[in-house]
Amino acid sequence: MLIKDGIIRDRSIYGVPVIIDLLPRRKNYSRWIKTELEYITNHNTDNWKKGADAKANVKYLKSVRLRSLSWHLTVDDHCIIQTMPLIYNGWHCTDGHDSDSGNITSIGIEGCLNKDGNWKTTRLNMIKLNVYLMNNLPNLKGDNWKKTIVGHYWWYKKNCPSQILKEKGGFTAFRNDCIQYNKDLIAKKDIFDYEDMLNELSDWGKLYISDVKKIVKENNHNWPGIIEKLYYHAGKRS
Ligand SMILES: [Zn+2]
Repeated sequence: MLIKDGIIRDRSIYGVPVIIDLLPRRKNYSRWIKTELEYITNHNTDNWKKGADAKANVKYLKSVRLRSLSWHLTVDDHCIIQTMPLIYNGWHCTDGHDSDSGNITSIGIEGCLNKDGNWKTTRLNMIKLNVYLMNNLPNLKGDNWKKTIVGHYWWYKKNCPSQILKEKGGFTAFRNDCIQYNKDLIAKKDIFDYEDMLNELSDWGKLYISDVKKIVKENNHNWPGIIEKLYYHAGKRS
């Protein structure tokens, strides 16, 4: 299982290393409500200082005495750190603890803005994380990406995620980039499946893969005709 008990078990997400560094339970979780989180809320740290990467932000989160500050995942240009199990609510949306508040219903992602980091890569890593969660958490709002992927401002009128909001197209562009990234993933999978299928056909028809490709091309992707031809070859060679 890729996510078990709310902990990401994959070592990397689309090439971005994942580090698990959980907060102690007593700290900052505000309320340990076991809930099926339905949304993903994106934030920016608003800490532009040199060195304020994911590791530094998690260190801050661990040291802060405030009880009402916690989120699940911190992203920078080289890693993703999980600090809370995804099955428990955090405290990052400024909107209290009603049953439909962002704090209770959403996973919190913080994207780092440290000036010695590469924001473009951090943004891409945030996109990858949103796509991964959409694909691996069935309790999120199904494939309703528009409803599920939100920014802090959606819950509470705050300029957050500040960097994403000031970019061209704002949060809509960010969300659309998530949707596009997922489409590209699916397209890549199609190509992979196609190659796989050609391999299987070459085994079955006892033909070199180059011959199978030739038959596919000659028959202009007319599959009944292609299968018939492969049958003929298989029969002849068996
Ligand atoms: Zn925020």
